[in-house]
Amino acid sequence: MPTLDTGHVPASDALFARARAVTPGGVNSPVRAFNAVGGTPRFIREAKGPWLTDVDGNRYVDLICSWGPMLLGHAHPEVQAAVQAAVARGTSYGTPTEPEVELAEAIVRRTPVEEVRFVSSGTEATMSAIRLARGFTGRDVVIKFAGCYHGHVDALLASAGSGLATFAVPGTPGVPASSTELTLVLPYNDRSAVDKAFEEYGDRIACLITEAAPGNMGVVPPADGFNGFLADICRRHGALFISDEVMTGFRASREGAWGLDGRPEGWTPDLMTFGKVMGGGFPAAAFGGRADIMQRLSPVGPVYQAGTLSGNPVATTAGLATLRLATDEVYAHIGAAADTVKSAASEALTAAGVPHVVQSVGTMFSIFLTEQPVADFAGASTTDVAAYAAFFHAMLGRGVYLPPSAYEAWFLSSAHDDEAVDTILAALPDAAQAAAAASGLDRPSPSGSGYSTSEKDAR
Ligand SMILES: *Cc1c(COP(=O)(O)O)cnc(C)c1O
Repeated sequence: MPTLDTGHVPASDALFARARAVTPGGVNSPVRAFNAVGGTPRFIREAKGPWLTDVDGNRYVDLICSWGPMLLGHAHPEVQAAVQAAVARGTSYGTPTEPEVELAEAIVRRTPVEEVRFVSSGTEATMSAIRLARGFTGRDVVIKFAGCYHGHVDALLASAGSGLATFAVPGTPGVPASSTELTLVLPYNDRSAVDKAFEEYGDRIACLITEAAPGNMGVVPPADGFNGFLADICRRHGALFISDEVMTGFRASREGAWGLDGRPEGWTPDLMTFGKVMGGGFPAAAFGGRADIMQRLSPVGPVYQAGTLSGNPVATTAGLATLRLATDEVYAHIGAAADTVKSAASEALTAAGVPHVVQSVGTMFSIFLTEQPVADFAGASTTDVAAYAAFFHAMLGRGVYLPPSAYEAWFLSSAHDDEAVDTILAALPDAAQAAAAASGLDRPSPSGSGYSTSEKDAR
């Protein structure tokens, strides 16, 4: 059995020990703990462009990009200047400000939403969108898909009940059964399951929420016409279609995942959620949609929603600077770099005899170490996690920081230049060999608790 190369990182080891003494698992969002790959998470001291530097002084090409937000790379000079100027003007007033108006206008220009409301996290965005959908329709039932992650909203931390179109059960301790008993969890890309749910509960369904193109079980593109089908069946039944673009928004393309199939096919979500890129690396998120629906929100409508730091002037300034700089050239650059990396990874894995599936949505992509097609969560779950752990550590040891979980997209930025891409390409052949050597081994995670494949165990 190959030994796990966890690297020599004494400063990260020491910080991780201190962190675990005062924080559960030593992290503030589970996926950072390396539970799925073992070893010590690198504590990052600073970042510039495509590079992370850890507290031991090691440099890594960053393929996490803060799980999506850093579209322009780290410490982009123009974003930084805008943020510094905003900080100099004070950091929060609890009053309306100009940057939040400008950011709302920028989002309305790039997406089909007519109005937006800012919040501080993607979780709040999806939670609020669902409340609004329930308030607007006067109905209670929510449909989601297995493997789609919408933040840690009680009603959405749900696992499918037994049998098709039966109500869900809590996906984690701490969520009461009463929070998931109005949630239906269906297999992704499965039209007949959606048909059946609407047949059975059509007049009780407030909304269907889906990732516009799932990225949280790895990248799983919607089957041709699937989103349009969802928009249509919702409309016919008087339910709202909520497209969650917290990950894909302003990332998969200039207009997010909607720009890839919504605009071309002519479907429009009733509500959308955004986060990650639109916060420019700060805690900012949003939900938005049709004006007549958004007008049901307080203070104009009866559906209550609020937030002390919502629309924070520093966060909205960072988001606005990011969107202004996110030109067509930025997406073209990221797309080209992504193409180079994914073909090289595929070649290296093929050469090492490691079965894999490469999937993309615009500039986002994932590599699943499996022989099975990956159209839903069941397919994604066939990934060889031991092979991924070995691949991950081999890359890390060669200066490339991949997502520490086999079920994630790899994120690039406009700052990923030739030097960064060449560093990735140079690391791939050895990492593919390491994956081949570990393939099929059921290696226990050295840091304890294993990875839950029953639902998203991340962030
Ligand atoms: C990240 C993410 C969320 C949750 O956002 P947080 O800011 O982590 O709460 C919701 N939906 C999708 C699709 C995401 O990728």
